[in-house]
Amino acid sequence: MSSLIVRFAPSPTGHVHIGNARTALLNYLFAKKHRGLFILRFDDTDAERSKEAFVQAIEADLNWLGVKPDAVLRQSQRLALHSAAAHRLQEAGRLYPCYETPEELERKRKRLQARGLPPVYDRAALALTASERARLEASGRKPHWRFKLDHRIVRWNDLVRGECHINCASLSDPVLVREDGTYLYTLPSVADDIDQKVSHIIRGEDHVTNTAVQIELFEALGAGQRLPAFGHHNLLFSATGEGLSKRSGALSIGSLREEGIEPLAVAAAAVLTGSSATVHPVVSLCELKANFDLGEISRTQARFDPAELATLSARTLHGLSFEAVRERLAAHDITGRKAEPFWLAVRGNLSTFLDAVGWWRVVEAAIEPRIEEAEFLAQARDKLPEEPWDEGIWARWTKALKEATGRKGRALFHPLRLALTGREDGPELAALLPLIGRARAAARLSGHAA
Ligand code: GLU
Repeated sequence: MSSLIVRFAPSPTGHVHIGNARTALLNYLFAKKHRGLFILRFDDTDAERSKEAFVQAIEADLNWLGVKPDAVLRQSQRLALHSAAAHRLQEAGRLYPCYETPEELERKRKRLQARGLPPVYDRAALALTASERARLEASGRKPHWRFKLDHRIVRWNDLVRGECHINCASLSDPVLVREDGTYLYTLPSVADDIDQKVSHIIRGEDHVTNTAVQIELFEALGAGQRLPAFGHHNLLFSATGEGLSKRSGALSIGSLREEGIEPLAVAAAAVLTGSSATVHPVVSLCELKANFDLGEISRTQARFDPAELATLSARTLHGLSFEAVRERLAAHDITGRKAEPFWLAVRGNLSTFLDAVGWWRVVEAAIEPRIEEAEFLAQARDKLPEEPWDEGIWARWTKALKEATGRKGRALFHPLRLALTGREDGPELAALLPLIGRARAAARLSGHAA
């Protein structure tokens, strides 16, 4: 086992949508490609907004996509580790108490902006003397705590974006601990990444600035020698150019599942959109893994068109082997000797997987035939060959019918299709007829539900 370790770290404050599925899958495929470990870490330090129901839903959605974590962690159960990290920073003089109220901070920002200056925190709290701090606390103020950045240029070689650098002098010292003692995202994330020996951090490019801060934090916490590699992938944008919001519910994995979109189609769209590969159907995550390279992700926005998902999903179904769907078919009681030839007969006609259930009824249950041209159908019934039937049965039967009636093309085939399946169109009758069997076919040609 290599020592490659990645993590997908959602906050359980909403459902997974295709945009965060992209992050999850890129991490997962990267781990699997390099025989590494994939950790699912719930960034749930925000007790008010984090919900158990979202934890469950995220796990279920990832499972549906085929993303199987090697370990699942919750930050809320690791607070001692975060406090130890905060303590260490305090000792080193890198974490300092600040007493400004949100209103005071807002006024400072406005003043800077009015002078055309970037709204960077002025570090006024660093200049407070011990007695000034004591006075503030006596008046009931509680401190929040900021990380004192080293004002230097932080550089890293991004797995997706190449050489990156950010001047930390242009950033405000980030708040790591809130007034009530709870942690914001930054510190627990780094403390956990160090503790879990995360070797590669792959996430959306909205985190690029965080990375500079976090690299300073890794170093301040003594992990400068074991810095993870960072890769920031582009974000998915809808065709109209909006980002995909976590809380909007639109394009959530759950809603795509309910629409009958195939998980492999979601995965292919999530991974291949915005890369140099065209989005194409795949038969497994393994195939996607073989096709995938972080370096292939483009640096521009990834345009994602949900309208293409339904087509991609249908094309995905058309290529799935029986083995790939055996269990899903069995869950609908599609089992036995006929199940495999049935799947091969119908898969090319499916828009969604559930369409197969309707076709199984056509071959295995009583359906109402549609009778057009009863006389011709009676003739057709009389010419049905005796069983056993093989896959050549349709060709032999219709050839005989053509010779006997002079019919051809639609006039020959369409009444047969309506009677045998009750539907206007569908899979090749050559493949369906042997599955329907002689008794059922004869009854339907006679106009009986069978
Ligand atoms: N909880 C963070 C998020 O959902 C994790 C970011 C990261 O990967 O560090 O954006």
